[in-house]
Order: sequence, then C-alpha cells, then structure tokens
Amino acid sequence: MTTSERDKNHFYTEVSHDAVDTRHQGAISMPVYQSSLFAFESHQKFDEAMQDVLAASVYSRGNNPTVMYLEEKIALLEGGESARCFASGMGAISAVIFALVGSGDHIICVDQAYGPTRELLADMSARFNVEVTFIDGKDTQGFADAIRPNTKMFYLESPTSGLFEMQDLPALASLAKAHGIITAIDNSWATPYFQKPLAMGIDLIMHSLTKYFSGHSDSLGGVVVGSRELIGLIGHRSYLNLGAAMAPQTAALITRGLRTLPLRLERHQASALKIAKHLASKPDVVRINHPGLEGYPQKELAERQLTGYGGLFSFVTRHSVEKMKQWATDLNYFRIGVSWGGYESLVTVGSAPPQLNADGGTPSSVRLYIGIEDPDELIADIERNWAKLYEPTLEGQAL
Ligand SMILES: *Cc1c(COP(=O)(O)O)cnc(C)c1O
Repeated sequence: MTTSERDKNHFYTEVSHDAVDTRHQGAISMPVYQSSLFAFESHQKFDEAMQDVLAASVYSRGNNPTVMYLEEKIALLEGGESARCFASGMGAISAVIFALVGSGDHIICVDQAYGPTRELLADMSARFNVEVTFIDGKDTQGFADAIRPNTKMFYLESPTSGLFEMQDLPALASLAKAHGIITAIDNSWATPYFQKPLAMGIDLIMHSLTKYFSGHSDSLGGVVVGSRELIGLIGHRSYLNLGAAMAPQTAALITRGLRTLPLRLERHQASALKIAKHLASKPDVVRINHPGLEGYPQKELAERQLTGYGGLFSFVTRHSVEKMKQWATDLNYFRIGVSWGGYESLVTVGSAPPQLNADGGTPSSVRLYIGIEDPDELIADIERNWAKLYEPTLEGQAL
C-alpha cells in the first residue's frame, strides 16, 4: 500500500472515530448546543472564562461546543493545529484577509480565484489603501517578480474552480517564507481527502463547507485552518468582531455530512472522470479542464499535489452559448444552478474565456458538477439532445 493509500484509509477512521467524551453523557453524535450564552456557577469561574472567550464557551459568537467539535474535526483532517468555522465560505475568506492584511499592505492573488474573493480584494484596494496584484497562478516566477517590500499575503486557490488551473504550492510556500509572506489557499475543490496544503508549507487553508463537507446542498458554512497563533489572531481580530459565526444547527448538519466525505468523493471522482473522458472523445468539444485527464497541461503538478479529483470540471465546445444553454435546459438529471458539492448533478453555461477561444465561431464554456447519480444515465442524458446542436438555428437558416 502506498503512503497516499494509507493516508486515505486513515481519513475514513478520522471522520468516523471520536475519543469517548464524558462531557456529553457519552452521546455518539455531538449534541446541538442550541444556546446563545453559557452561565457559570460562580463569578470566579465566569471571570476565568472571560479571560479567553474563544477557548471557553461564554457566548456563541465566540465559542459554541457544537461548532467547536466541527472545528477540531476539520483541523484534524487538514493536519492543522486549530480551526475556526464561519457562517459561509466568504465569511471565512473575508475574515482571513481582514485579520491579516491592513492599510499599506500588498496582496498577490491568483487571477482565477473565486469571483467574490477577487471582488472583495478589488474593493479593498479601491477603498482601504491595500494594494492587490492579480497574477496567473501557473507562473511561479511571476509571484517572485511581483513581491514588494510590503507584500503581506499570497492568496491561492488550486485548482481554481472555473478553469481548474493549479499553482505549485511547495514552491510558492518556500518563496513566501523567504520573504515573511503569509500563504492562504482556498482548498474547497480538493478537500483534505485529495490535497493537504499545510503539509506542503502553506500557512492557512480556507473551505466553503457549503460544498463537499456539507455534501447535501442544505447549509452554508466556511472554515479556516492553520497554526494556533494565526487562528488566534483571526479569532480575536475578525471572528469575534465581524460576527460571521456558524450557527450550532449548521455545525451539526455539516458534521453529519463530513462523516461520509471520503465515500462521496470517491464516487464523484470516478463518475466525473468517466464523463470527462466521454466528452473528450467528442470532436466538437475542443478542450476539457479536468486535472485528472491525459492532456491536462499541468499533469505532472496535478499528480504531485493531488491524490484524487473532485466532481467539478468544465469544457469548451465549438457551439454557441445560446445552443449550449438550450441543451442544458433540455437535460433531465442536471439541474441549472450555482454551487456544487452536493449529491445532485449541476450545469451552467457561459462564454469561453478569450484565451480558450476555438478557431472561428463563438465558443461556449460549460461547467458540470457530477453528483452521485448513475454516471451512465448522466452520459445518456448528455447524449440525448447533443445531435440537436447540429441543427441550424433560425438565424443560421437566414444566413
Ligand atoms: C462557493 C465557494 C466559495 C464561497 O463559499 P460560500 O460558502 O458560498 O460563501 C469560495 N470558494 C470557492 C472555490 C467556492 O466554490
């Protein structure tokens, strides 16, 4: 068995096993502490707890036992010392940036990072005297060239969730360390089951727990994982004071989702690879953005950094956006919608980015999220109306 196979098997033990916890009467499932505050038997005990409201349960915006249980579990899975859960992925991301980047600082951010993250940084640079450089994440030397004396953070997302491009994480981590720069990565796509950025030298990991951790499209959540020191700083500067705390009911739902995370990811991985390979055989699909396929431009890096692949990928077709939108509307099993990471397959269609333009025509870009349905039924669904893409449109006939 390889190290990676052993680690993956151990991951199943980590999501399932808890030490016996007598604080909760031996409850197997962590109870939901549906309480905004916690009372103390003496004022002395209250005063002691008030010394660190992030460590003790005093008030649920600072520390709720049900949320803390989930935080400890995710820290364990990522191999981090500490974690903090938030009301959404963006709650976690904005708290990290707000806590660690201030007036006069400079951030280097991957240009394909999640849209709202880029908007947040662009807005900060316009209004808060924070400089931001957006950079092609594939270009490690570009990061080195962009470093300034006031560079505070590398903001990474690998693979990115639109084009699925990767960054060389160990190389960027050591470059950052040499310059005293903090590295933060959005690891939502891969999860700790397929990628462990802390082990590669990255300082902080963020997740949208809304996606795979929840796994059931019924809750929003976010998390940041890292050293006790950095998480403590984020805790005091932004977790407590910006107030995007996770609700205890949500923590219980996401804890329930987490129990089956590796089981689900194996299924998403296998089905998505099968469907991506099917699409790759089509002459009118000009490019597939999936790190697990032969021909992926960063294949060597993907094999070095990832131990598997999620269920979200995209492809570019020669057909127009309008035709592909009609094809998507006619699908049976794929629902049209944002987000991903749940049990159900999803599709969205947009214009292909200019750098991916197929020769001639106005190509379209399709993002698929592969759920846990039968992959052969999903392929049949994709095929059912594919031939219609070749039927001339009314405008086509007029020409
Ligand atoms: C969804 C998503 C986020 C934001 O998470 P929310 O829970 O929606 O706030 C951040 N990064 C990536 C890659 C995402 O897909």
